[in-house]
Amino acid sequence: MGAADWGARAAAVPIDGRALVNGQRVAALDGQHFDKHSPIDGRLLGPIARGQAADIDAAVKAARAAFEDGRWAGKAPAARKKILQRFAEKILAARDELALLETLDMGKPIQYSLAVDVPSAARTIAWYAEAVDKVYDEIAPTAANALALITREPMGVIGVIVPWNYPMIMAAWKLGPALASGNSVVLKPSEKSPLTALRLAELAVDAGIPPGVFNVVPGYGHEAGEALALHMDVDAIGFTGSTRVGRRMLEYAGRSNLKRVYNELGGKSAFVVFPDVADVARAAKTVAGSMFFNQGESCNAPSRVLVHASIADRFVDIVAGEAPQYQPADPLDPATVMGALVDGTQLKTVLGYIDAGLGEGARLVTGGRQARSETGGCYVEPTVFDGVLNGMTIAREEIFGPVLSIIRFETEAEAIALANASAYGLQASVWSDNVHRAHRVARALRAGTVHVNQYDEDDITVPFGGYKQSGNGRDKSLHAFDKYTELKTTWLRIDPA
Ligand code: NAD
Repeated sequence: MGAADWGARAAAVPIDGRALVNGQRVAALDGQHFDKHSPIDGRLLGPIARGQAADIDAAVKAARAAFEDGRWAGKAPAARKKILQRFAEKILAARDELALLETLDMGKPIQYSLAVDVPSAARTIAWYAEAVDKVYDEIAPTAANALALITREPMGVIGVIVPWNYPMIMAAWKLGPALASGNSVVLKPSEKSPLTALRLAELAVDAGIPPGVFNVVPGYGHEAGEALALHMDVDAIGFTGSTRVGRRMLEYAGRSNLKRVYNELGGKSAFVVFPDVADVARAAKTVAGSMFFNQGESCNAPSRVLVHASIADRFVDIVAGEAPQYQPADPLDPATVMGALVDGTQLKTVLGYIDAGLGEGARLVTGGRQARSETGGCYVEPTVFDGVLNGMTIAREEIFGPVLSIIRFETEAEAIALANASAYGLQASVWSDNVHRAHRVARALRAGTVHVNQYDEDDITVPFGGYKQSGNGRDKSLHAFDKYTELKTTWLRIDPA
């Protein structure tokens, strides 16, 4: 299928912006909505229910009722597994529709929505489904006259608040472990990308997840999001988003019921290239590919490259030579590799950072301008700055757009210090063919994930999350069950014969 076919299908894809509460599609209780436009070309996608505190309260009540009567939590893990596997199958069966909604909503290329976002979301749900009847509880090694059972129990009602950069995948990372372990969920998607979450909730109902177990209330962060995070009957919040809003999540918990808060926040990941790496070109091409993927709107984008001065000129030339292949183009064309930024606000933010880089004396190597403005969409050229200093705004702050900063260093100690001189600690990468240096530096880097001589490995089996202001808790892997379960100890007395 070519761009014209996907264009025609996009024009015909059904869009329903109503919330899904207790198994039913419903308008906001006060009837309010907001208009959602596509960043591809500004087209109106439709009205989206503008959830408020009352809508959140209705969803939390439905979720609580579902939890208390055991219609989901009371099922054997193997029974939940079967239903969640069906949910994953339904996601895959709706691949084209979900991919179109994702691309229209937030601007990513259709080829990646099809090949990455939809299958990854389905795989995540299927993996937690498959895992849940293989996780055992514990018996503690106590004295013989007692038995201590250490068991995991679902927490109850989980509030999930997610961003717009990978809407389905971020939701699936929370839904998988939260639902598999028996909780009920109220999901508040980003107001910038609510469409796939709403469709996922419908597919979940079709798959047999009982009404009330998985609810989606769209709306703004300061309205629906705040109401969910402040709600007295929500047991935990799984949040992915900015560090700024992550801070508020902790405040909301403090102001309400001390609900658990799991924050997966921003990043400014360092990509450190030493002169003893044999294949400098592979390092340079990898950083371009990882940086410009998803328009640079990835929490783990390697946006701070630290490169040894002796190879820096060559490295910069290769990265600059890669940029043309990442020029933004029509997201509905299956050949496109870089699409639109999520909206006009993000476009302004990214262009503002480019101005800040120029203003603070960084050298613009390539890009730096808005693109395709004639389409009415939000596009920016892949942009590379050289001569960046770690104290500059573009090296300190998360830009969340296709802007790469290159910083030069002289010694290993300086590279480690620069890499760690960040408020964030999500990911990092070390490039060196010296095995001692690779291990030494990987150990010294303060990040939740460190890559060595690559940047793209990713699997549901491994934890994902950050040190420092990149968050707490971990998404993915069996560790994610820790976030949505309470650990209970039950003591039993054993009398002597
Ligand atoms: P954001 O923090 O602006 O919004 C995230 C979500 O929070 C949205 O649903 C939004 O509506 C909601 N929200 C906003 N203000 C709120 C408030 N006052 N109360 C309650 N909810 C509120 O982030 P964004 O712009 O949507 O996403 C980009 C950010 O997400 C980046 O910082 C990125 O690094 C981060 N991110 C992190 C990870 C990770 O796993 N660490 C993954 C993806 C994205």
